[in-house]
Amino acid sequence: MKRMLLTLLLIITCNLSAQEIKSPSEFLGYDLGSRFTLHHQVVDYYQYLSNVAKDRMQLNEYGQTNERRPLLLAYISSPDNMQKLEDIREEHLKSTNGEGASSKAIVWLSYNVHGNESVSTEASMQTIYELLTSKQAYLENTVVIIDPCINPDGRDRYVNWYNQHKNSALQVDPNSKEHHEGWWSGRSNHYMFDLNRDWAWLTQLESRQRIKFYNKWLPHIHVDFHEQGVDSPYFFAPASEPFHEVITDFQRDFQVTIGKNHAKYFDTNGWLYYTKERFDLFYPSYGDTYPTYNGAIGMTYEQGGSGRAGLGVLTANGDTLTLKDRIAHHLSTGLSTVEVASKNVAKLNEEFKKFYSPKNYKYKSFVLSGQKDHLKSLTNLLDQHQLTYSYGTGAMVKGFNYNTGKAGSFRANSESLIISTNQTRGTLVKVLFEPNARLSDSLTYDITAWSLPYAYGLKAIASETLVNGTPKAGSTVKKETLNSDAYAFITDWNGMDDARFLAELFKNNIRIRQAQKPFVLEGKRYERGSLIIIKSDNESKKNLLKILGEAAKKYHKSLTGVSSGFVDDGKDLGSKYVKMIPAVKIAVLSGEPTSTLRFGEIWHFFEQQLQYPLTVIDGNYIGEVNLTNYDVLILPGGNGYETFMDSDMLGRLKEWVEDGGRLIAMGNSIASLDREDGFKISAKKKKKDSVEFTMASHENLAREKMKNDITGAIFKTRVDATHPMAFGYKDTYFSLKLGIDSYNYLESGTVAYISKDTIPVAGFAGSEAQELMGKSLVFGVEEHGKGQIVYMVDNPLFRGFWENGKLFFVNAIFMAR
Ligand SMILES: [Zn+2]
Repeated sequence: MKRMLLTLLLIITCNLSAQEIKSPSEFLGYDLGSRFTLHHQVVDYYQYLSNVAKDRMQLNEYGQTNERRPLLLAYISSPDNMQKLEDIREEHLKSTNGEGASSKAIVWLSYNVHGNESVSTEASMQTIYELLTSKQAYLENTVVIIDPCINPDGRDRYVNWYNQHKNSALQVDPNSKEHHEGWWSGRSNHYMFDLNRDWAWLTQLESRQRIKFYNKWLPHIHVDFHEQGVDSPYFFAPASEPFHEVITDFQRDFQVTIGKNHAKYFDTNGWLYYTKERFDLFYPSYGDTYPTYNGAIGMTYEQGGSGRAGLGVLTANGDTLTLKDRIAHHLSTGLSTVEVASKNVAKLNEEFKKFYSPKNYKYKSFVLSGQKDHLKSLTNLLDQHQLTYSYGTGAMVKGFNYNTGKAGSFRANSESLIISTNQTRGTLVKVLFEPNARLSDSLTYDITAWSLPYAYGLKAIASETLVNGTPKAGSTVKKETLNSDAYAFITDWNGMDDARFLAELFKNNIRIRQAQKPFVLEGKRYERGSLIIIKSDNESKKNLLKILGEAAKKYHKSLTGVSSGFVDDGKDLGSKYVKMIPAVKIAVLSGEPTSTLRFGEIWHFFEQQLQYPLTVIDGNYIGEVNLTNYDVLILPGGNGYETFMDSDMLGRLKEWVEDGGRLIAMGNSIASLDREDGFKISAKKKKKDSVEFTMASHENLAREKMKNDITGAIFKTRVDATHPMAFGYKDTYFSLKLGIDSYNYLESGTVAYISKDTIPVAGFAGSEAQELMGKSLVFGVEEHGKGQIVYMVDNPLFRGFWENGKLFFVNAIFMAR
């Protein structure tokens, strides 16, 4: 009876709140799904909800985007739970230490990471509305955290574009312009970065701000809402193989539990869906894998639609897919996810605790040493992931040597970084640091290698026994006082902080030279590439010392003042081997024929990493631009070069290079220069397609094709360390290779290359692709007239995380002529 009364009461309250709270359609003044909602309107609705449902909802702005749109998190639960939200969070986090008695499920729903997969944010509004009204029973034992839009800049780019191009009446003809978004699509963020590849690398503003809050909660379940092609039916869990080996049986099984619950609703409605295909759980930087490696059930849900779909579009089957359909599907899976969570609270808590119980991974500690700059940017990343580390005590460490691929050892001194798997997030440590992640299936959606010691260019040992370290001794950075009597100041050149220091000096119109050869001066040895600021070069700068001091402090540089230019060994500071670094004017090609991602990486690099001015020139008017205004022109990778690079364009570029321009050709832009009337670069010939390949059965075709493929694998390359493009490097470099493009060595100017050893140190490369990699160029510089063409077959700026490759790019820009 009491129970009945309670139920009755509950129904009454539900009805009351349903009346009190406006649905998205009521609030916005149009039927949800009949048009797209601009981001500021979405913000308004969430703010409205947090006002009318104060007892059940909290809204926080966790940051802003590059274009200053707010990033929001809505926390919803029962009034009781909301009053002790902080206690619930703390109790939940105790589970990661095997303690506490958490009795709530934490579900995190992330919408619209890809801006033009625009249904998601619309669906989020209906989902939170239903959770606050008709489905509030789920919230009794569950906290739901909703990020209505991870990528507001991209979403508004799409929505504004769509509104400008749509027909006023519903136009479902896929040929109509509103279904062809074009190059500047809304998928990525402001800098054209794919935020769903950035969870582990945190190169983007949105990711860095979000991760702080994600780490404060570490939910039991995380869903990333997406859209795929218009002709694909809905995809939900369980995910496809390969699964990373750290994924637990429970995580696998629970994906099935959730998938079956969704299927129930989809079956009832007669909606099509599929599971277990295409979207795998391997690459760690996704919105499903990163949460998974932190103990969550991490999932990707994919509605058919995206930038092609608009408000309604005809599919290949002749059906009309509307925005309202798309909303209904995402709403259904969102609610079903929360339902499953609320029915499995005890199990989720128990298993979450288990996930964080001590693991016995093969490698217990990773010990790294090398350039201070690289170590520092790595610890910066570790801090953001709340991974702990310590420093060496002078003991020898033995284990797998990343550089040789064999057993080895080195002494872990006080600068050596130790990261061990016996910490709370040991699983994430294993995933990010192990030399080579085990791949259960080569057919994957993304790159198959990312091991951080290679990405950061560090010497590393993976040890099977735990290596003990000590915390970092107090900072020993002494305050630099620059001697005003010095003849010149010298500093090293081997990392991004050095490049930023250089850019900062250029900003202040300081003239800087660079040593082309190693030298010894006043008893100290300086390597090739060392930066030299000679006082007499900067006579007009009255505040030279102040500028140098401030820039040095900002970028953690140590400057050595010398009293003479007369060296003990090598070339004197006045020699022609100490060249002035040109403060070059740089332009980058964008639009067709480039790829948005490849262009965006360069744009972001100059603006956010190097802070050096860049002119962006679109492919559709470069023909009218006077290129002699620029010293360097960068061609990002892209698929449109075949038509772009006609004889006229090629002729113009050649003339410009002959007159002293420097062309930097990256990725698949290189192929367009490999022509009889082009430059000297020549592609390696593939053996004609093998017989076995054409004999593959229909069913095995995809697998056979893999023989000719490289899906993001790490190769050991050799480096000509005497070349200016390699200043700051030693004789090997680990390169992330993203495809099978391969070119012959240059007659001269081959800077980094693969020799005969073509087995990748990590990741997947098909047998025939490997053969093609033998004796192939990675980076090279061709002299042409007074200028140069720099070839970058591999892309060190890929997704912004290959820290050790970035200096090659900087060298390519600034190396003296
Ligand atoms: Zn997507």
